[in-house]
Amino acid sequence: MSRAHPLDFTHAPEARSWVASAQAPGSDFPLQNLPHGVFARRTGAGLEPARGGVAIGDEVLDLAQLAALGLLDGLAQEACMAASQSTLNGLMAMGQPAWRALRHGLHRLLCDDADPLVQRSLSACLLPQREVQMRLPVEVRNYTDFYTSVHHAQNVGRVIRPDDPLTPNFKWLPLAYHGRASSVVVSGTPFKRPRGQAMAPGAQAPVYGACKRLDFELEMGFFVGPGNAMGEPVALGQVRSHVFGMCLLNDWSARDHQFWEMAPLGPFLGKNFCTSISPWVVTMEALVPYRLPFERPAGDPQPLSYLDDPADRAEGSLDIELEVLLQSARHRERQLAGDVITATNFRHQYWTIGQMLTQHTVGGCNLQSGDLLGTGTISGPTAGEAGALVELSRGGSQDVPLPSSGEVRRFLEDGDRVVLRAWCAKPGAARIGFGVCSGEVLSAPQG
Ligand code: MN
Repeated sequence: MSRAHPLDFTHAPEARSWVASAQAPGSDFPLQNLPHGVFARRTGAGLEPARGGVAIGDEVLDLAQLAALGLLDGLAQEACMAASQSTLNGLMAMGQPAWRALRHGLHRLLCDDADPLVQRSLSACLLPQREVQMRLPVEVRNYTDFYTSVHHAQNVGRVIRPDDPLTPNFKWLPLAYHGRASSVVVSGTPFKRPRGQAMAPGAQAPVYGACKRLDFELEMGFFVGPGNAMGEPVALGQVRSHVFGMCLLNDWSARDHQFWEMAPLGPFLGKNFCTSISPWVVTMEALVPYRLPFERPAGDPQPLSYLDDPADRAEGSLDIELEVLLQSARHRERQLAGDVITATNFRHQYWTIGQMLTQHTVGGCNLQSGDLLGTGTISGPTAGEAGALVELSRGGSQDVPLPSSGEVRRFLEDGDRVVLRAWCAKPGAARIGFGVCSGEVLSAPQG
């Protein structure tokens, strides 16, 4: 069978860029990645208007400046102009041929065999990443969060329903709730600990106050490219032309509020106070070398036919390494980086992103360019691979150690900063990364 996601020259691991920092060991942004984002340049006079760029090594390639140079043509130039805007919604709406034309053009311009004159003019379009402020890459009009890790569902289910942790629907469809788009923020944005209602175990009445069980959720997000019309579902075989790329996502959760309020309609205030995403969108094109077969454990139900497709079976899963670092106020006082409290891989997800997108539309729901779909918490098969504190602390009953500061956590404290990281690496392919998604907990508002 021919690959639905073919490799091309932009994936060649030996290709190098004339931008020196792109070759630095461990760089998230080598020539093979080329993720898109939106930035505002800091100047002495303040911030310039936001515009689109591509990360290469430690630099940002300013696509507005590149478009003005006229080094690209045809579809690549049109895509470059769309990608230089203050949101990436327009680029996402253009579709895969445009995304690919731009990737190919950028690769040629940034490759070390590019004409020296081209290199010289392009150098003027590079800005150090430390001199820019990253913005939300898209105008998020709709945000949906799935629940597709069987290990997370079992771990959390044990806290809520010890005898029957997995709901009967879990292995038949990718579950989700409709989230809140207005409180999606870019990495680096702090938020206040939420207030709300919680019902303590055995109590007769709930109490109103600051969240006592604040948690993170290690997730990835993916962005819708061209949307679909209402009443016209996207078949699983067509999904690849509807997904632009992926980012890191932290679905901050107030567990005490969430577990009290969510029966019977699902999460509400427990999830809608803040959702953080990483600023760089890694394209599905860049992830091609890291596609994996989608497999179902023997004895589990096989997907219904509308959630099954040969290409999705062959390449629907993704090999993405993930880790979570917690940096407390004490870590910062002592100038310590923090402690990695969990690490896992996206390959353990029970449903593919294709199945999630198809499920979202199968009833007729229309998705729009730039819509954000979260994968749900990513937890691996072992206890140390859980993607949330409620799992790592077994429902808040065990300490999670922070060895370098000597502290422990069951849930997040004020001043805690949670940093998500992800990267792809394997022999025969270039290592690419997602950068970071960080956020800091501030104290609750008065009241
Ligand atoms: Mn979630």
